[in-house]
Amino acid sequence: KCHDELVRLKGNIRVFCRVRPVAQEELNASEARSIVTFDPDDDAILHLANKGKLMTFELDKVFPPQASQEQVFQEVRSLVTSCIDGYNVCIFAYGQTGSGKTYTMEGVTDEPGINQRALQLLFAEVSEKAPDWEYHITVSMVEIYNETLRNLLGDNPSEKLDIKMCPDGSGQLYVPGLTEFHVQNVEDIKKVLDLGRVNRATACTNLNEHSSRSHALLIITVAGVNLSTGHRTSGKLNLVDLAGSERIGRSGAEGCRLREAQCINKSLAALGDVIHALRSRLAHVPFRNSRLTYLLQDSLSGDSKTLMMVQVSPLDINMSETVCSLKFAQRVR
Ligand code: ADP
Ligand code: MG
Repeated sequence: KCHDELVRLKGNIRVFCRVRPVAQEELNASEARSIVTFDPDDDAILHLANKGKLMTFELDKVFPPQASQEQVFQEVRSLVTSCIDGYNVCIFAYGQTGSGKTYTMEGVTDEPGINQRALQLLFAEVSEKAPDWEYHITVSMVEIYNETLRNLLGDNPSEKLDIKMCPDGSGQLYVPGLTEFHVQNVEDIKKVLDLGRVNRATACTNLNEHSSRSHALLIITVAGVNLSTGHRTSGKLNLVDLAGSERIGRSGAEGCRLREAQCINKSLAALGDVIHALRSRLAHVPFRNSRLTYLLQDSLSGDSKTLMMVQVSPLDINMSETVCSLKFAQRVR
């Protein structure tokens, strides 16, 4: 019985790749060249051409540098709204530092990313379902740094959190003390996202460096009740800006840096292992090998849906990291 249960763990996993544009400064530096080309007839293919060598990768979809935030969002839209129907969803941005992970998830002032667009869409969709359905949407923000969870919407941003098993025997996990902010209107969205950003920056001497070494999670829960039938739904959307995947500290790293590198390598490898195991329907899925996969266990397993957005730089100088990221993409696909 237990085996059947595990075999049923169906991987519903999609892997996209987004190539960031070449920045103006990089264009000015004459030695930086773009090595990425696209297939005009197949938007799932990406080629890397460097020094006479050609490598081809197949994904579920590839976004070229000119793809807008809106175009990217259109492709994740249905995944976002499926949490209204009670699905658990994870969207990850994976890639080396500087490849556009934060641009895709958070975005910039004039070009908001998936986080803000997803919350806005959820509000618009649930209001369409009134008055038959009533929804309660909450938002939590968590940072995972060196295998420690930090509550980004709490009163004390340096507060550390634990992951616990519910005592009711359901096997459900929960995080005691995690702030769940009840968002009631579109104005609340910006407030809560800004609060999380400010709290994340608190106690960091170098935010860029810190954010490239930690995972940032925006966790949205959508609970609905049909007022005439009493039917209930509950879904969760996890939007994750992962730590930079670059192979830091391979040589010479000591102390803090070495520990950081080990934690990042461990949790990204654990995420790859978990998705690979789900995809391959392996009997054992090693959720407990990192805080990240343990925390997201019930949003990765069962009939959950996962999207891995692999971010890459188009430049020749980033080629080896780009190849690593695309190999990761192939492994989980
Ligand atoms: P990461 O979070 O992976 O370290 P960022 O999201 O910070 O990378 O992106 C690095 C820089 O490139 C930022 O200045 C960002 O605004 C810019 N950038 C990334 N992707 C895009 C894009 N698709 N369009 C325009 N600018 C981008
Ligand atoms: Mg970033």
